[in-house]
Amino acid sequence: MLQVITSIEDIKQRIKTFKENQLSIGFVPTMGALHEGHLSLVRQAKEENDKVVVSIFVNPLQFGINEDFTQYPRTFDNDCELLSKEDVDIVFNPKASEMYPNGFCTSVIMERIEDRLCGKSRPGHFRGVAVVVLKLFNLVNPDIAYFGQKDFQQTVVIKRVVADLNLGVNIKVLPTIRNKEGLALSSRNAYLSETEKNDALCLYKALIKAQTMVNAGAKNAKEILGEMEKIINNCKSAKIDYISIINPETLESVPEVRKGDVAALAVRIGKTRLIDNTILFFIMAVFIHLI
Ligand code: AMP
Repeated sequence: MLQVITSIEDIKQRIKTFKENQLSIGFVPTMGALHEGHLSLVRQAKEENDKVVVSIFVNPLQFGINEDFTQYPRTFDNDCELLSKEDVDIVFNPKASEMYPNGFCTSVIMERIEDRLCGKSRPGHFRGVAVVVLKLFNLVNPDIAYFGQKDFQQTVVIKRVVADLNLGVNIKVLPTIRNKEGLALSSRNAYLSETEKNDALCLYKALIKAQTMVNAGAKNAKEILGEMEKIINNCKSAKIDYISIINPETLESVPEVRKGDVAALAVRIGKTRLIDNTILFFIMAVFIHLI
């Protein structure tokens, strides 16, 4: 039965009992407004662990002052229903006032990687992500934590923090789940009108173009980026934040594409900022669609 825990003391107690009973813990951190993308992580966590904890916390620290913290969709009851159906053990839903009490001032600085890509237009975002994930890891003490490839830079940041600070948690990154048309599922898709949802497919089309060019032998990143840009610019409501082909560890732009490099982009569709990416293979990449 799904247990909702909101206090830090209670989650510590519950985790202590799991540990005393030598039960392995799978952890899926989320901001709620759950969809099939989140649930794919939950299902994998269920398969691989004795107990599964999902956190739902819209983390104020990772939103900039002019960003969508207040509008961010909050659908807690529905989320709990979904998690209940997946037979999740615990949903941890802490209060911001308990996570960040008066006097809170600690941060995590990730030199070089936090200011690239999304970090450029969202200064401080990844510090906020690193702080909350670190706090949640300390509270939940998971054996394995699950993240989505959709938030690619986030996975790089988390893996870096785990390696650099010697955290004893195994990080698993699972593929991006898309709708039938190819749009990556995101809680922020709720902001899109039907027309915008259709326009938003340009992100996916640009990624497919990159993959197709690579399959056909293209290596020059500038040439590939040029074609991706054309696809996005063809869509009237789209405004490019960035399009890059990067090394998956350093996040530096590459002049020539190698296997495993990542094509990543952030595009505003109307007022909504969407991100997407794909790992470039030299055979056709597999895009997972909902059937
Ligand atoms: P969020 O609630 O947006 O912070 O996301 C929580 C976790 O779900 C993160 O690890 C995301 O990368 C992951 N996630 C979000 N959307 C998707 C998706 N479409 N496919 C796979 N994972 C996703």
